[in-house]
Amino acid sequence: MRYAVVSDVHSNLESLTIMLAKLDQADGLLCLGDMVGYGPNPNECVDLLRARCTSSVLGNHDVAAIDNFGVEYFNAAARAAIEWTQGVISKENIEWLNELSYEIRAPEYLLVHGAPVNYFEYILDKRGAGRAFQNTDAPLIFVGHTHIAEYYRLDPDGSIAHAHMQNGGMLTLDPGARYLVNVGSVGQPRDLNPEASFVWYDPQARAIEFVRYEYPISAVQEKIHEAHLPDLCASRLGIGR
Ligand code: ZN
Repeated sequence: MRYAVVSDVHSNLESLTIMLAKLDQADGLLCLGDMVGYGPNPNECVDLLRARCTSSVLGNHDVAAIDNFGVEYFNAAARAAIEWTQGVISKENIEWLNELSYEIRAPEYLLVHGAPVNYFEYILDKRGAGRAFQNTDAPLIFVGHTHIAEYYRLDPDGSIAHAHMQNGGMLTLDPGARYLVNVGSVGQPRDLNPEASFVWYDPQARAIEFVRYEYPISAVQEKIHEAHLPDLCASRLGIGR
């Protein structure tokens, strides 16, 4: 079975729709959270993810939408967008989000939004990645949260290698190493490439493919303005940061 791994959809329906069209019926879909927040289509995005996801975990914007958890750490634009989201999101979608957990562990991988154990920690460097590897024994850790497509590789001698994957590319998983893979963001990329990001994970082939794809950014920006969401939520889509 092949899996698409997505994160940080952030109510961006145009991007999510294009991503989902890449899936075959037999493909699994793993979601790392932050389905809502920032963007103009929270219900449509949660409906699609509810229907299609094999496994999903909660992101910080999801739990903020449920009950304001952590909203004091949000910047003004994120907070305004969560208040707007709370005003439009359906009871059914909130109930579905509320039943998700913060982590899902399979024998071969771990799904968390930000980091193992400290679920909403931002892994920004090798030190952060080292803490993450210490906090789980999973051979492969999938994260999102920073909206930056990249990976860290831990070798048996304790050394950690790092690579940005902002233009996509392949990673072959060496059985002797462990990996932390940040899948980037479907709905609000921040690694200076405005194209949306996700990864394909093929456990049999031990392969990860980082994918970037175009979506109609201006259509989303228009909806953000029409909804009177903060301008920043629209402008950053155009520059990918
Ligand atoms: Zn996010």
